Amino acid sequence: MDLDKTLKSIEEMGDNHIGGNSDTPLRPDAFELSDIEKMELIKKDVANIMHTLGLDMTDDSLKGTPKRVAKMFVQEIFSGLHPDRKPKASTFSNKYKYNEMLVEKNITVYSTCEHHLLPIVGKAHVAYISTGTVIGLSKMNRIVDYYAKRPQVQERLTIQIVKELQKALNSEDVACVIDAKHLCVNSRGIRDIDSSTITSEFGGAFKDPQVRREFLDYIKFDTEF
Ligand SMILES: [Zn+2]
Repeated sequence: MDLDKTLKSIEEMGDNHIGGNSDTPLRPDAFELSDIEKMELIKKDVANIMHTLGLDMTDDSLKGTPKRVAKMFVQEIFSGLHPDRKPKASTFSNKYKYNEMLVEKNITVYSTCEHHLLPIVGKAHVAYISTGTVIGLSKMNRIVDYYAKRPQVQERLTIQIVKELQKALNSEDVACVIDAKHLCVNSRGIRDIDSSTITSEFGGAFKDPQVRREFLDYIKFDTEF
């Protein structure tokens, strides 16, 4: 393949946001290096990119950037790659016998598009129907945040959240809808600042159109406090 064709295929894949299976593609040796070692390497890599762009890396305003970016990648925006950071899913037995749907809506999503390394910003709405186990409300936010802090495609993020909650609750009856803006679409390429992307995953009982409708009606509630 010549360079033009290669670039074109990268471009097409990125802009179509094709995701593979639901697991983040990690190498088996992903965590052999410590966070400190990773930050040291990334710092050099970022400095290299900036140098290649022609920037004067001795400038006061620029010289701290490689270190800041390295720290941000490893400890903040991609920190959810590390399985040790997965939130402990504290579940409780459902003593209230509340067997209706529980919806946690408007969970803020800050993620990063893995095709362009630009932000994805939006809201996730998560629901489950208890079959005897309930989960702490903030745990749902934490699970969303953990999987969001990875290079992501929105489809995969949606599925990962549902799978994690299904495991924690030991029930298939979990659903998630994410509505998010992708800065790779809003700020470059097609530059459409108004468009957003909706993805959904409906497990178990949520495959029933009536149950699904109930969930979708709840998330339309305009909550103001
Ligand atoms: Zn993108």
